[in-house]
Amino acid sequence: MSEDGYSEYSRQKSKRKKTSKVWHELVEGQNEKGATIATCIHCKLALLVGLNRGTSHLKRHLIESCPLRPVGLPLGEGGGVLVVERRRNLCLI
Ligand SMILES: [Zn+2]
Repeated sequence: MSEDGYSEYSRQKSKRKKTSKVWHELVEGQNEKGATIATCIHCKLALLVGLNRGTSHLKRHLIESCPLRPVGLPLGEGGGVLVVERRRNLCLI
């Protein structure tokens, strides 16, 4: 159990930590060519992530061009599993 925790920690350390709020609304993955992509949780569009891992174009998609994201929503508030979970809990009660 604790071994898993350690490997997880070192992996996070060597990788760059994702601090941008865009990652609340994007899921990191890989395309068939092995390039890193970020899939929008709203419209499921796969956006390429550059080697410098810049997030400005990802942010722009969420704020300006995503067809399914609610307009005017603050960045990072648009989704994530937590929101879905909370809604599900409310339904159960
Ligand atoms: Zn989108």
